Amino acid sequence: MARTIGFVGLGNMGGPMAANLVKAGHTVRGFDLAAASLATAREAGLAVAGSALEAVAGADAVVTMLPAGRHVIEVWTQLAEALPAGTLLIDSSTIDVESARTAHALAQARGCLSVDAPVSGGTGGAKAGTLTFMAGGGAEAFAQAEPLLKAMGKNVFHCGEAGAGQAAKICNNMILGISMIGVCEAFALGEKLGLSHEALYDVASVSSGQCWSLTTYCPVPGPVPTSPANAGYRPGFAAALMLKDLRLAQAAANAAGATTPLGAEAERIYDRFAQAGHGDEDFSAIIRMLRGQAGEA
Ligand code: NAD
Repeated sequence: MARTIGFVGLGNMGGPMAANLVKAGHTVRGFDLAAASLATAREAGLAVAGSALEAVAGADAVVTMLPAGRHVIEVWTQLAEALPAGTLLIDSSTIDVESARTAHALAQARGCLSVDAPVSGGTGGAKAGTLTFMAGGGAEAFAQAEPLLKAMGKNVFHCGEAGAGQAAKICNNMILGISMIGVCEAFALGEKLGLSHEALYDVASVSSGQCWSLTTYCPVPGPVPTSPANAGYRPGFAAALMLKDLRLAQAAANAAGATTPLGAEAERIYDRFAQAGHGDEDFSAIIRMLRGQAGEA
């Protein structure tokens, strides 16, 4: 069913996601606070509005793709007051679980349907329409959101009730941050022991050390030619974004009383890396700091 969609937040992710909704036959009107994002969206052929309220006027579904929880609460508060009951709201930003639940409550108070649906797959996945969506919300809200999410992504999972999508996202990315540091430490130790990168890769990639950080995103050049290590550690997935997600995981762990010592240490390590001026590098470049080549180890 073709829908009329208001899309707020047309940045690196939101712009191409909105374009994929248009390609799927939906009517989309977008808004962003930044003139540059609006201009890029306009150049890509997207209809843009002068405000968030104007973008969602007449829409039966709304998608937001914003930097952090406070932006989502601000926009959803403004929109919820204006939207008719029954409107579907989807937030695909990566935000803290508490803010996600607050956003759901704002929608519910107005009789709207809501889904938190953060993504993995990065800007490449957003352009190609191959993102993975992790969704939280009621069954009816998810059923309505699913075709829209499928227009922007390849894999769509319903993870549970309000906030479950954000919970899945930060748990996954906490595994990723910890595992990347583990793989980097192993390569740095192997170097000191005179072990070649190729030999360590050949063994670990078919042994119990095997993981995504090794076999898809190998932090040294050579074994996996497509990994950012082969391109000067250009992101990819920037260290600053990994730090953001590790912070969200620690905030959730503290609020829920979960013990995550390695998640906490991974956050400290990425924080030092970002403080030393490497936030724009791919997160696998953390190997340089672990070798003592970039910032403090
Ligand atoms: P971005 O900074 O490129 O885009 C965010 C946009 O939101 C900006 O254009 C900004 O102007 C706009 N914005 C902020 N406040 C607004 C408001 N009140 N009204 C309208 N527009 C507003 O960020 P991005 O890379 O597109 O990421 C968006 C979200 O997706 C973040 O939560 C991020 O963590 C998450 N994410 C990003 C990636 C990635 O690789 N970039 C991957 C997965 C998830």
